[in-house]
Amino acid sequence: MPPVFRFAPSPTGGLHIGHAYSALLNEKLAREAGGRLLLRVEDTDTTRCRPEFVDAICTDLDWLGIRFNGETRRQSEHFETYEQAAGRLREKGLLYPCFASRSQIAESVAARQAAGEGWPRDPDGSPIYPGLWRNAPPDVVAARIAAGEPHAWRIDIARALDGIAADDLAFEEYPDADARETTRVTRDPAVWGDFVIVRKDAPASFHLAGVVDEALQGVTDVVRGSDLQQATGLHRLLQHHLEFKPPRYRHHALLTSEDGEKLSKSRGSQTLAALRESGHTAQDIRTQLGFWNARL
Ligand code: GLU
Repeated sequence: MPPVFRFAPSPTGGLHIGHAYSALLNEKLAREAGGRLLLRVEDTDTTRCRPEFVDAICTDLDWLGIRFNGETRRQSEHFETYEQAAGRLREKGLLYPCFASRSQIAESVAARQAAGEGWPRDPDGSPIYPGLWRNAPPDVVAARIAAGEPHAWRIDIARALDGIAADDLAFEEYPDADARETTRVTRDPAVWGDFVIVRKDAPASFHLAGVVDEALQGVTDVVRGSDLQQATGLHRLLQHHLEFKPPRYRHHALLTSEDGEKLSKSRGSQTLAALRESGHTAQDIRTQLGFWNARL
């Protein structure tokens, strides 16, 4: 079976040069491996994703000359599928409902810090969830659910890791963008604490939807930015419990702007639309990013 790669942007804006690098790297690796390249639109976050950005992304990718195989998958059309996966995790007792608001969580963390307790942060810099609704009385939870109170579903990370050996969560990863061989690695999912798996304001989280889609789409190779490297530990844990075979992973370094900023923070001048309008060609972008071999 030929390998299957995918590019999976979130339509929260047009693409910037960092996305172009990721898409072109996927294109190159898929071509070299004689594989397929899929496009997946990750629009589960209904608060931030907008349909006009989907069109903008397609225009950008078309302009870059990247051709995808098969139909584009839009995650917002598959919420039921993600809900079924969440249901399997719930049946295993691994998720619990959380009714806490952002401010309640922030207050709880602040109170613990004021009491002199250092409080851990996750790899993205957010304080670890302080467990407000973990082991909440079942009758209280049932009454709130019956009253239709909005809630997220969080993973009980201690329970999800109970009885699991490190090797159960190992996966194959290419150490960088150019590596030819994978190494077997594990990444501790506990660093994320009781992370949100089903959001309060959307029927899935990016993490759950992505893991389900890699399996359903037969993705063999996930190539994406190093900002998601630590999240792979959590993804691997979800794969374990959903009994999905893990793909191989490759996390590439993120491009930074000349002043060293992350591109998302200084994206204005670096969007593909802005570069296109200022007269750059797709071949210029490919050359600038080191994909000068590619045939347009
Ligand atoms: N949708 C994510 C993003 O645009 C990427 C997810 C992935 O490649 O796994 O940041």
